[in-house]
Amino acid sequence: MAKRKRVLSGMRPTGRLHLGHYFGALQNWLKLQEEYECFFFVADWHALTTHYEDTSSVAESTLQVAMDWLSVGLDPEKSTLFIQSSVLEHAELHVLLSMITPLSWLERVPTYKEQIENLKDRDLGTYGFLGYPLLQSADIVIYDADFVPVGEDQVPHVEVTREIVRRFHHTFCLHIDDALGLPGNAPLRKQIGDALGVDLFIPGPQHMLVELPWPECRAKLRARIVEIGFDNAMTKLSSHQGKFFRMKRVLVEPQPLLTQTPRLPGLDGRRMAKSYGNAIWLSDPPEEIRNKTRNMMTDPQRQRRTDPGRPEVCPVFSWHKLFSPPETVAWSEQGCRTAGIGCVECKKAMADNLIKWMEPIQTRRKELEANPQQVWGMLDAGGNAARTVARRTMKRVRNAIFKWDEARK
Ligand code: SF4
Repeated sequence: MAKRKRVLSGMRPTGRLHLGHYFGALQNWLKLQEEYECFFFVADWHALTTHYEDTSSVAESTLQVAMDWLSVGLDPEKSTLFIQSSVLEHAELHVLLSMITPLSWLERVPTYKEQIENLKDRDLGTYGFLGYPLLQSADIVIYDADFVPVGEDQVPHVEVTREIVRRFHHTFCLHIDDALGLPGNAPLRKQIGDALGVDLFIPGPQHMLVELPWPECRAKLRARIVEIGFDNAMTKLSSHQGKFFRMKRVLVEPQPLLTQTPRLPGLDGRRMAKSYGNAIWLSDPPEEIRNKTRNMMTDPQRQRRTDPGRPEVCPVFSWHKLFSPPETVAWSEQGCRTAGIGCVECKKAMADNLIKWMEPIQTRRKELEANPQQVWGMLDAGGNAARTVARRTMKRVRNAIFKWDEARK
């Protein structure tokens, strides 16, 4: 069976999750876990990049997030679910990548400036905050992730990761012998290889062909030649003028997996967010759901029961489309436009269907709440599985940088 492509995504430990999280991410994760090999993690270190002063709720919030994941149907048999800080290799890779990442690359990540503008009450003048896109890169790269599910605004984060991977390869994975790895150039390769006393270029699936501009190519060669003390090589190579290098592939360049999410406005019509106080939590009991939806915003032009309404601008109708059966959606639309129904009954019908939709999620959640140790155990097991993969990557990374294997031969 063909190996499934790998997907990585994470979520900060914000505590209980709401419907916005479900439709913005979890619904997509549920689909992805059927098609890909998925790694989903609670990003507890990322939480510190903006909220380092108060860590009192991180552990409890991690548990709440994990319970919601399991409640909606993320399956530890299909996906690896774990806590970021249980795999220390993320931090090691972050440090190593930080050595080659220009500051300007981090400063130009759009969300960096945006967040500094928007989170004025936070101390964001820390190295941790500037470096968070790099920590994200380490999170992705350490699992050889092929894809990262993102919205349009997150694409630059994946792009910076791809640039860092390329820079890593160019810095640590090019060799003079690889420079001679042109097909059909075997005699020259052998001649120089013999003089150097090394086996030049072993082709294999772990290599890729890259093209460098000649000046850069020559600079790499010159540096390597000085290193190995082979003075005549430049003469031979300058007549060659080849600019293709074989490069050992140590890390995977991830691709963004663009995700379309359905529109789910909050109770007040704005984006659903904890800070706006306009959310329905996946764990809200039915009475709470009824109370909250009773005060939900509707079409502002529908002032009286006799005014016809515009369902397309009403958040209640957006919710109907997600939670109600087609006949109820049609009833709401028709009744609204003709003033045949009132907003109170329209909201009540929507709330009934929402409560029904939430029922299986909440039943599973109650079982998990009764046994939190089971949830911690699942996260620990996921951490062990993730660590196995991360350690393999780090072995390749350390060898590429420090050439431990060569030194120990
Ligand atoms: S009838 Fe329903 S869809 Fe129309 S404005 Fe009222 S709540 Fe919204």
